[in-house]
Amino acid sequence: MDKRYIFITGGVLSSVGKGVTAAALGRVLKVHGFNVAIQKLDPYINVDPGTMSPYQHGEVFVLDDGAETDLDLGHYERFIDSGLNRVCNVTTGQVYAEVIAKERHGDYLGGTIQVIPHITDEIKKRIKLVPETTGADIALIEVGGTVGDIESLPFLEALRQMRGDIGRENTFYIHVTWLPYIAATKELKTKPTQHSVRELRSIGISPDMIIARADHPIAEELRDKIALFCDVEKEAVVPMVTAPILYEVPLLLERLGIGDVLIEKLGLKGSGQPNWDEWNHIVSSIKMNKPLVKIALVGKYVELHDAYLSVREALKHAGFADEVEVEISWVHSSDLEENKNWDLVEAADGILIPGGFGPRGIEGKIQAIRYAREHKIPMLGLCLGMQLMVVEFARKVLGDERANSTEFDPDTPHPVIDLMPDQVTIVDKGGTMRLGLYPCELMPGSIAQQCYQKEFIQERHRHRYEFKNAYRQVLQDAGMQFSGVSPDNRLVEIAELVDHPFMLGTQFHPEFLSRPNRPHPLFKGFITAAKKKAGIT
Ligand code: GLN
Repeated sequence: MDKRYIFITGGVLSSVGKGVTAAALGRVLKVHGFNVAIQKLDPYINVDPGTMSPYQHGEVFVLDDGAETDLDLGHYERFIDSGLNRVCNVTTGQVYAEVIAKERHGDYLGGTIQVIPHITDEIKKRIKLVPETTGADIALIEVGGTVGDIESLPFLEALRQMRGDIGRENTFYIHVTWLPYIAATKELKTKPTQHSVRELRSIGISPDMIIARADHPIAEELRDKIALFCDVEKEAVVPMVTAPILYEVPLLLERLGIGDVLIEKLGLKGSGQPNWDEWNHIVSSIKMNKPLVKIALVGKYVELHDAYLSVREALKHAGFADEVEVEISWVHSSDLEENKNWDLVEAADGILIPGGFGPRGIEGKIQAIRYAREHKIPMLGLCLGMQLMVVEFARKVLGDERANSTEFDPDTPHPVIDLMPDQVTIVDKGGTMRLGLYPCELMPGSIAQQCYQKEFIQERHRHRYEFKNAYRQVLQDAGMQFSGVSPDNRLVEIAELVDHPFMLGTQFHPEFLSRPNRPHPLFKGFITAAKKKAGIT
């Protein structure tokens, strides 16, 4: 079958949930029997978000192949539940780097390199790689930002050209907009949507569908109005009121008949019997009234919850499965250093120490880890969290508070965490960490192995530092078990404490592989331990 492309652009303003909408559409099409993949086109100039601060861009989501990508890729994978690859996140930086490299190589000898056609051709090439490399029947392509942004113009032009290249029948354009609410008159307004569609038209793209987002119920006559003014069929104007539950969005879209509209418009034949049982089950377990489990997330970027998006979702997934409501207290590790907010840590049934970079707030995290160890509070450490769990334990065992990671103290007498040997000569910061999927063997009978119920796993990584093997024996003798190691036994992947109900840290990022329908075994184990701590049976 011909590959189909659904292009998703944003109008009026950003942060209206375009990424979730794309992800949810992916789930709808998957349930209708199609193999889907989703790509994000990011108009910024960075080659990838890996070099940006979490404050700028939220979490960096890592794929199996080691690509450092936009956090929307996390939504995509969680909703469609299939692995994406590095072609699924394209930035202006990547496109220009490639075109300029080709120019230097002489590939365009004699020619003048221009945005059209050279840049747009490169963008189109990358769009077409999505079905080619994933085997998807339908590729959903989301453009970051909002129509009208200067940077997104070449991407929109490429989208426009795609219709001519691969045929009207194989392309579908969706514009996601926002209806502002005027409190004085208690009404939603469609004017910004009309303007945004006009702006899109001026670039040469006429939307086939408008998804109108709003925080208030959208009256039927507004749908009529948008259809009339924006020249879209009424059935293709989709009123999408903000859903309190993220994972309900695919069900809402399905109820509005979007699956059938898309299938018809793209001339496809669906499975006929979409089976929503699994997804309905997820949503009903979210809606169930459940006892509360409190998790203190002790991070250094907590002001911006998006910095820990996958961690938050993974905690929730484990909660659905364990029939508890996970309530996250966001604790700033620097506050703990100043003796503030300890009540949040003390009230918690579990403590989670997520990943991070740089010295700020490190000692606060270590104090929280010490509290978890001494009070036997279930604790899960992710990447930096695992490294600091080792530092805290080493400080106790060696009786020396100077034990540290060389990331924070290059002169520590006990560098229990140190730069990986193959990182020593690396100077470039972009894309040079140990990234992506690596294998790990689990120690039989350990907590980790009991959680996974298997002995060989593969997990996603993003780090430069590692556990220093010279300290394995001494820490092991004192009760730290290295329950996950690389198959050559060189690299510690999981550390756990023997004399503790659940104190476990991973060098990898399990949160990237948690799905609402398949909670991650370690998050599940952690929440089960926290549930026990909370006295819930
Ligand atoms: N800064 C640490 C390292 O580079 C941890 C990284 C992380 O938490 N992702 O190894």
